[in-house]
Formats: sequence, C-alpha cells, structure tokens
Amino acid sequence: MLIYIGKKRQEKAMGYVVDFCPICRELTEFKLTKINDPALSYGIPLATGASVGYLRECVDCQTFMHADPIRYAAFAHRSGTAAIKTLAEATFPRAYKYHGKRLQLEKLIRQSPHTIEEKLRVELVAESFEALAPTVERRMANIYLDTQMLIVAVLGLLSVFVLPSYLGLLSSSLAENQSTVALVLALIFCVILGWQWKTAPRRYIRDTIYPRIVKALRILEPSEDEMSFALGIAKRDGKHIAKLARTEELMRLFH
Ligand SMILES: [Zn+2]
Repeated sequence: MLIYIGKKRQEKAMGYVVDFCPICRELTEFKLTKINDPALSYGIPLATGASVGYLRECVDCQTFMHADPIRYAAFAHRSGTAAIKTLAEATFPRAYKYHGKRLQLEKLIRQSPHTIEEKLRVELVAESFEALAPTVERRMANIYLDTQMLIVAVLGLLSVFVLPSYLGLLSSSLAENQSTVALVLALIFCVILGWQWKTAPRRYIRDTIYPRIVKALRILEPSEDEMSFALGIAKRDGKHIAKLARTEELMRLFH
C-alpha cells in the first residue's frame, strides 16, 4: 500500500481502451488519461510544444506510457466490462493489425526465446526498463508513505504518548522524568522513521517494480550480461530505475 501526499494532480480520466503493453507482452486494457501539465509525463515525450498530453496506464500491471488518442475509435466508460477482443473492436478496431508484427514476435518469443537474435533480445530486455522508468520517476517525484512507514509512525506515536505514562507506573524515577522519557523515545522514533524514509525507494523497487520486470522478462530468460547492459542504458539516461535496481538481485529472481 502506498499513500500519496501532495497537491491534486492535473489529470483527467478519459476512459478505457485496448492497446499493447510491453510488460504484459499482449494487448491489454488501458486507462487513458489527459494531463494538463508536461511535468506529469515523467520523462514520456509529449508532442513538440504541447502543454497537454495523453498517457495510458495498463489495468493489469499499472505501468503507464505514452498514448496517442487519435488511434482510438471510442472509450469504454468502465473497466473490465468486456473481453479484450470485444473491447478492442469497440475502442481500437485496428489493434491486431496495427500491432501485428509485435504480436507475431511475441508468439515467436513464447515458442523459442533463445532463437531470437541477440541484438533484438537486448532491445527487448532494455524495453522493459524503459517502459517502467516513468512509473519509477513518478514515485520518486512525489511523497508517499508505504505500509512499513505507516506502521513505524503509529508505533512511534504510541511509544511517545502512551509508553512514558505506562513506564511511570512501574518506576517512581521514570514517573518523575516522563517528559525526558518521551523525548528520548521521540528521538529514537525519528531515527527509525528517517531510516524507513531513506530505504523506502529500494523497498518500492523490490516490492513493486521487480515483480513487473519478472512478469515482462521471465519468458526471455535474460542472461546477466543482457540484464546489466539494459540497466546500463537506463543508467546512461539518468533514470532512477537504474540507480535503484541491482543486476544480481534481478538475476536471483529468474533462477
Ligand atoms: Zn501491462
């Protein structure tokens, strides 16, 4: 669980459409959103000079990416109302033709992932990091409290406001110095919360992003060289995903 803290985003939900998701590796349902602030694209290029843009977020894996609204014939008002094929006919009738080459490649990958030429394999591994990079950038640009921090905050507040009076019942010297005890507990609580804050991005990568990388790349069974090359590209582009993910941790998830 993540709780977002910050001002209201300038986003407007347009509806649901079908398109290709490089993480799910198939046609999936997307929530289409119009943004009125280029800063909300988190590295996804908008049209030149445009102050508004469109993003689509996969309903299955919650990865968001660039959207081209012109390709959609209509939007569904609610999610999960129809099978992908039916939803495609209504929202993106050309979807299977438009993504024909890619869907053919995905079929080939499922049949024999290691017969694909090395250059293309590396591109496909890199594509997953590129697709997930804006999601990580959004997480890093905003303030969130994750479950662990909320638990620490609740326990910390309880220890500062309740524990001193309880300890005071056990010892008369502690009862006389309740404010000092509360201050010491508050300091300890702040140090623990600070540590939780500092380690939150790595927790987010491990708990939220690693499973999506595994979902995208399990079928390809990437080698360590392919993985570190893909991370190297993301690092060169200055993406947080590359600073927070570790090749050796990822490789352990595949073996
Ligand atoms: Zn997806």
